[in-house]
Amino acid sequence: MTSAQWIEKSDKYVMKTYGRYPIVPVKGEGCRLWDADGKEYLDFLAGVAVNNLGHCHPKVVAALQKQAAELIHCSNYYQIPQQIELAELLCTHSFADKAFFCNSGAEANEAAIKLARKYSRDTFGPERYEIITAIESFHGRTMATVSATGQEKVQKFFDPLLHGFRHVPFNDVPALRAAVTANTCAIMLEPIQGEGGVNVPSPDYFREVRQLCDEQGLILIFDEVQVGMGRTGKLFAYEHFGVIPDIMTLAKALAGGAPIGAMLAKDTIAAAFTPGTHGSTFGGNPLVTAAALATVRTILEDGILNRTEEIGEYLLGELEGLKAKYPFVQEVRGIGLMVGMGLTIPGGDIVKQGHERGVLLNVTHDSVLRFVPPLVVSKQEIDRMIGILDGIFADITP
Ligand SMILES: *Cc1c(COP(=O)(O)O)cnc(C)c1O
Repeated sequence: MTSAQWIEKSDKYVMKTYGRYPIVPVKGEGCRLWDADGKEYLDFLAGVAVNNLGHCHPKVVAALQKQAAELIHCSNYYQIPQQIELAELLCTHSFADKAFFCNSGAEANEAAIKLARKYSRDTFGPERYEIITAIESFHGRTMATVSATGQEKVQKFFDPLLHGFRHVPFNDVPALRAAVTANTCAIMLEPIQGEGGVNVPSPDYFREVRQLCDEQGLILIFDEVQVGMGRTGKLFAYEHFGVIPDIMTLAKALAGGAPIGAMLAKDTIAAAFTPGTHGSTFGGNPLVTAAALATVRTILEDGILNRTEEIGEYLLGELEGLKAKYPFVQEVRGIGLMVGMGLTIPGGDIVKQGHERGVLLNVTHDSVLRFVPPLVVSKQEIDRMIGILDGIFADITP
């Protein structure tokens, strides 16, 4: 079928929760995608920071194929070797002692919210349940994570929201301090805000947040769903900030494109989840955890992290070059391959122009171009994208 035929059928049968572009990707390899009409695209979105090893990385494909032929699913009533190995791998490479697995970022944050509340209730009593999050944050689309998210456009239409969330400006310690009450149990933050416009906090922010949490006995939750798994040039973004959280959530890139979520915590806190307090039918099943094991091992073993740091600096430099040339480019910011370009104009048409010229770009927060390509992107591929973007920008200048 052609792309046009697929789009017609989609209009008929698929709910319109997304404003989808008229592109029908059917095949991928590395940083490239092909649509149903055979058109090739250079992919600088990577499934929204999911395909960190590129599309169809041979090690992930092999792990999925092997596991699919052995055992796809059993149940968390039983022990699952691949899940156990993944938990060990994530814990030995992070601050955490224990892992819980689910199927998405929102679910990982749900698990974090439930664990923080349960731990606080067990430790301090039922009046400590409130979680402080940041304005412009994004934590997911379930009711609890919508309530946690600090964006009106995500929350409107769904009142009443879940009780017990309070929002303060990101990167503002006094505001955070002022929001803590006798009811506060946790602070939940993205190390770098993704959907909110690639917002990087000042270097001291998280140290001061950590200090506040220690003073007040609050749990610090890092939502690393988007920035974890090597995106910033370290396995986890918190490693850049000289602090460790108490709970961390992961999802997007963790299983190379297979749906997974994870919530990691220190033993003292994890112990609050006793049998029967939380669960997920599919969470951490053999198929997805086999894919995640292959993904994490490849990120750790193949020099991907050092490379990401280096190539990220190259991308930032090239984007700075465009900033010097075009007055509507306000700022370029980011760490590793988590990069944003703030514009003084809306970015929607630039993305559409990119599609026509064969590059998948992304705009978030209306006017921030977000670059989250596969971590295996080459300098030549960056040069090609920059050349296309330069051409698009040149057409905008009056
Ligand atoms: C994408 C994202 C989520 C939600 O993940 P889903 O898998 O879509 O539920 C949560 N937090 C952050 C920071 C994200 O970027």
